[in-house]
Amino acid sequence: MIVIGGGLAGLSAGVALAEAGWRVRLFEQRPFLGGRATSYVLPDGEHVDNCQHVTLGCCTNLEDFYRRVGSAGKIKFFDRLLFQDPQGRTGEMEAGMLPAPFHMTGSFASFAPLTLADKRSIARAMLDILRAKGHTPDLDVPGGISMLQWLKRRRQTLGAIERFWRVVLVSALDEELDRTDARFGVDVFWKAFLSNRSGYRMGVPAVPLAELYDGCKTEIEKRGGEVNLRMPVRAIRVEGGAVQNVEFDGGRFETADAYVFALPHQAMAELTDEEMKRCEPGLANLEKIGAAPITGVHFWFDREVMHEPFVTLLDTTTQWIFNKTALYGGSNGTVKQSGQYLQLVISASYDLLQKPRQEIIDLCLREVQQALPAAGDAKLLKATVIKEAAATFSPQPGVDLLRPKQETKIRRMFLAGDWTDTGWPATMEGAVRSGYLAAEAVLRSAGTPRAFLQPDLPPDGLVAWLV
Ligand SMILES: Cc1cc2nc3c(=O)[nH]c(=O)nc-3n(C[C@H](O)[C@H](O)[C@H](O)COP(=O)(O)OP(=O)(O)OC[C@H]3O[C@@H](n4cnc5c(N)ncnc54)[C@H](O)[C@@H]3O)c2cc1C
Repeated sequence: MIVIGGGLAGLSAGVALAEAGWRVRLFEQRPFLGGRATSYVLPDGEHVDNCQHVTLGCCTNLEDFYRRVGSAGKIKFFDRLLFQDPQGRTGEMEAGMLPAPFHMTGSFASFAPLTLADKRSIARAMLDILRAKGHTPDLDVPGGISMLQWLKRRRQTLGAIERFWRVVLVSALDEELDRTDARFGVDVFWKAFLSNRSGYRMGVPAVPLAELYDGCKTEIEKRGGEVNLRMPVRAIRVEGGAVQNVEFDGGRFETADAYVFALPHQAMAELTDEEMKRCEPGLANLEKIGAAPITGVHFWFDREVMHEPFVTLLDTTTQWIFNKTALYGGSNGTVKQSGQYLQLVISASYDLLQKPRQEIIDLCLREVQQALPAAGDAKLLKATVIKEAAATFSPQPGVDLLRPKQETKIRRMFLAGDWTDTGWPATMEGAVRSGYLAAEAVLRSAGTPRAFLQPDLPPDGLVAWLV
């Protein structure tokens, strides 16, 4: 069995298939595992995540994968999400005593950055989602409708759109509301905030991201498999409707009984020829799937400037500030550190792509100093900007029609990747779901079916009676 790609999709497929008794040979082009959700060490010894990654309580497959590879204990879960606007008004999201769907009512009622009119309009839209059990009829319009259209149909106030819906959804889906299929947006609120009490809990890695995958190699190798790094696949040979082999540098060819291609959709498109598109029409759509950017800004201060583990900023370019020093337990990932390391995240950062790095640093530093007054007195020791122009696939209206299934019409070819048909947006959860679905498809085609996909969190509280 060959798996190409050592991101979460390839790793989850590889680990699942190894567990099912297959000898898995994984090939990854880079010198480390984790794909987009990884970290590396700077020349000065600093561990830097490609970008801060977070998970939510509703991401049941990612949680299952971390458990399988011994990393579940490296994720810290938080019950309280903190928001702050430039006027210094704060709000929280935290489950109170009431059962779902009313568990957030207390914190929502006292959420200072929203007016009463904003809150009324949000409550109306939430009620609509609740009544429709997470799927309002207008989501089924052929080709989909945008989240902005969905919100306008529900007469949301400008404040509600800008300071609530946009804040949550741009972070969760990495796209602007007018370019997001409303199906994804409504799903976020149903699964994370309405249907149960724990779906919204935010999980943040307490270690540099690459450390989450330490156990994957062991899981694959202990069942006779291998993990090969620095091994980019250069070509896929398909003949007679079946994969014959894959080609690496130096004219090396490898063959297997089955192949899982767990590449980003752009990389898969580059390896797809006309013959493959003819056999599997799903592969002809890959170039139509768009991409959306995320920018990460890293600041190292000479002293502590922030106490909270993270905060969401409203009405600023900077969307999140993560207190990496606190999340790593006072270290830089390996050694104890004085000073403080903060990571800022800006999703759907189209406006920043062309901006010079220093301009981004200056802009974000001003916002950090406004949000965290202690940063005004601190010395910024160093700063880094990481722009990921194609961070995720864009969840544009109708994108689901372009996403191929994991099982293809080409014999021995299986697909995985957050962009394949999982029902989920481009997230670590979506990537793991795709890996598990690909592993299930391989086992089904071999006549040894086995299930890996985990169920969603069940509705609880009063919602359990409703659905
Ligand atoms: C900046 C940023 C922030 C994000 N934040 C979050 C977040 O907070 N929460 C969340 O859930 N998700 C987040 N995501 C999305 C998440 O990282 C992805 O959805 C997920 O990691 C995708 O996994 P994958 O395995 O499908 O793809 P990838 O991680 O892209 O893995 C594909 C792998 O294939 C390898 N590869 C490519 N070409 C070849 C080749 N020819 N031969 C061999 N190997 C090859 C690549 O090197 C890579 O390792 C973020 C993404 C980015 C970029």
